[in-house]
Amino acid sequence: MIQLYIPLNFLGVLYREIKQSLVDLEKMFALLEREREVADAPGARPLRHPEGDVQFDDVHFAYEAARPILRGLSFTIPAGKTVAVVGPSGAGKSTLARLLYRFYDVDPASAGTGGGAIRIGGQDIREVTQHSLRAAIGIVPQDTVLFNDTIGYNIAYGRPDASQAEVEAAARAARIHGFIAATPKGYDTTVGERGLKLSGGEKQRVAIARTLLKNPPILIFDEATSALDSANERAIQAELASAARGKTTLVIAHRLSTVVDAHEILVLDAGQLVERGTHAELLARGGVYARMWSLQQNERPPEAVSAPLIASP
Ligand code: ADP
Ligand code: MG
Repeated sequence: MIQLYIPLNFLGVLYREIKQSLVDLEKMFALLEREREVADAPGARPLRHPEGDVQFDDVHFAYEAARPILRGLSFTIPAGKTVAVVGPSGAGKSTLARLLYRFYDVDPASAGTGGGAIRIGGQDIREVTQHSLRAAIGIVPQDTVLFNDTIGYNIAYGRPDASQAEVEAAARAARIHGFIAATPKGYDTTVGERGLKLSGGEKQRVAIARTLLKNPPILIFDEATSALDSANERAIQAELASAARGKTTLVIAHRLSTVVDAHEILVLDAGQLVERGTHAELLARGGVYARMWSLQQNERPPEAVSAPLIASP
């Protein structure tokens, strides 16, 4: 109990810290990890088949022991395919992304909540080095927090050996190059509290540029375009669709029009899968997804409907 209480309290402190000075999300979790002891297992090996299937096998997870968040989730993202997750806010969607990136570990079976495992190419991610796991995954998180460093550094972070031309190409694809070029120091502009403050949409585009540049075999998009205006959103979705082609991709979608071509769509509610299937299957079922779909159709004017985020399976 005490062990669990401390990290949560720590998170509150950290949150205020982030609001004051921009700390990178990964740094934040690096700090948290020390507390939560998500560390390389003794004898951890590099991830052998990063291009393999991603499998969630009866995954249970709770941030606090008394409140289970994920309750026995099983699904597979076949190698090179896209699986989409939709569902109400608080359902546990971002938690799936955090577990795959191993910000947290799936509960051990001994936790009383169940257990389970996440495997990539058949390897339990708890048994591989964090370095190799994170090298294989690109994540565009729901809320991007940047390093208090240059914008160029923030983009190249996923691939420090990238050339300036490659950094710029990624920035163009993420529609942030024009903005950067218009600043007096360009890519050398410091961002963050002591530098240029970026809007939510600008930060999101930096995170997208970083992920496009990194070009890893596994992609996680967590409401990756939610902070963008619809013109930028449509353009960037086309870029994300081409980036995801042939990659093993987990898309957490806020807009259903972006996931119609997914290999499988999972509807998550209160930590459980309440529906699953292809877009056509879910519409035919006439359940939760079909209702969400018809609501969103009515909400959005036809000219603003976005291009599909992902390529056909
Ligand atoms: P979604 O992305 O579907 O909106 P999340 O996965 O972010 O949902 O969160 C699922 C649940 O877990 C929510 O009830 C949220 O309040 C809770 N939660 C998220 N992060 C933490 C945390 N660090 N500590 C405790 N509870 C958390
Ligand atoms: Mg979320």
